Amino acid sequence: MKKLAPEDCIFCKIVAGEVPASIVQRDEHTLAFMDVAPVTDGHVLVIPTHHTPDLAGLDDSSGGRMFAIGRRVAAALRQSGLPCEGVNFFLADGAPAGQTVFHTHLHVIPRTRGDGLGFRHGEGFVRGRPSRIELDEFARRLGARC
Ligand code: 5GP
Ligand code: ZN
Repeated sequence: MKKLAPEDCIFCKIVAGEVPASIVQRDEHTLAFMDVAPVTDGHVLVIPTHHTPDLAGLDDSSGGRMFAIGRRVAAALRQSGLPCEGVNFFLADGAPAGQTVFHTHLHVIPRTRGDGLGFRHGEGFVRGRPSRIELDEFARRLGARC
């Protein structure tokens, strides 16, 4: 992935006020604003104000703050009068995961029964269950690196 300079980053431009955005809330470390192409009405993005392309570059306190603001936005959505019976958080880290803007961001998406959103697998996908041995091995590998 080509590294994007902060001056070329659309979300950094929003932080700097150089590109218009509908701001929900801001503080020194985070900015929450309406997604310009919402998947449902009320779809909000929460970002660190410091340019951070991916999760690996996000420090724990900015990540914690992003999640905390996401929780507040989720609560606000439920009280806002916008259709909201549930909320999804979504974060795409890397292009294969669906990331298109390389300034890390948390999607806060209001959900209603029957809205038709969801993760989709390709045709022919069969959901298998790994063995306990495999699960233990994955857990061991990951745990050793956490
Ligand atoms: P991603 O695909 O990286 O997880 O999500 C990027 C999100 O940023 C998309 O939902 C897209 O609609 C939103 N987005 C892209 N450009 C802009 C913009 O200029 N302003 C706002 N408010 N949202 C944007
Ligand atoms: Zn940026």
